[in-house]
Amino acid sequence: VPEGHTIHRIARDQGRVLTRRRLDVTSPQGRFAAGAALIDRERLERIEAYGKHLFYGFAGGHVLHVHLGLFGVFGLHKGAGPLDPVGAVRLRMVAGRHDGRPPATVDLRGPTACAVLTPDERMAIVGRLGPDPLRSDADPERFSAAVARTARAIGAVLLDQSVIAGIGNVYRAEILFACRIDPRRSGRDLSGVEVRCVWDTASAMLHKGVKDGRIVTIDGGDVGPAPARRPRRGEATYAYHRDVCVRCGSAIERYELGARTCWSCPVCQS
Ligand SMILES: [Zn+2]
Repeated sequence: VPEGHTIHRIARDQGRVLTRRRLDVTSPQGRFAAGAALIDRERLERIEAYGKHLFYGFAGGHVLHVHLGLFGVFGLHKGAGPLDPVGAVRLRMVAGRHDGRPPATVDLRGPTACAVLTPDERMAIVGRLGPDPLRSDADPERFSAAVARTARAIGAVLLDQSVIAGIGNVYRAEILFACRIDPRRSGRDLSGVEVRCVWDTASAMLHKGVKDGRIVTIDGGDVGPAPARRPRRGEATYAYHRDVCVRCGSAIERYELGARTCWSCPVCQS
């Protein structure tokens, strides 16, 4: 599942070419035909990312909700007319037939959720989400309060979208390594300073992820000059998919936590 930085980046990139334009909306595959008809030829006003959710606000009041889930993927084609759909395209949005601006086509395949909602239905989804560190309106106190009252392991809590929105398996391992917290420690046993570290680190890492377009948490000072090639999985991170700790040389531990594999250093995160 893409983590929050990917979703915010999609909102940003699609926003540049689709917002404040009237869109032709269809479902080449047919599964979303009724929903597409509700927003076809409507003007898209804004695209909003909240955790792993995307909301497209149309002038008529309809809200398109997309959650990519495990298999969902967007394609964005700029500067050319619509192409023949490849594969099962659930949703296609085309800009450029109603204004003189450059055309753009967005195709969506395989999402977990793709539905047209009312503003109230959007509010119901947002109401179930914890604060998103990538949003300027996020309230860190809501996160701190939720962590302070739970006996669950902090590593499991970080994957709970109702506590903090947008964190996935890579970032949880990296955030807790950076804050030197064992992922198996109970939320309520963390100090205020530790909880604040988790929030601030999550915010910094996710913002960097939006900028970089991928997850690189490792600091060049720990591994020497960055290789010219793109780092492989387990090279751009401190704990995630590592065998040996970059900082202290200990064997990285690996175990199930929150139904996903978790990695941590027994020495750096004790
Ligand atoms: Zn270590």
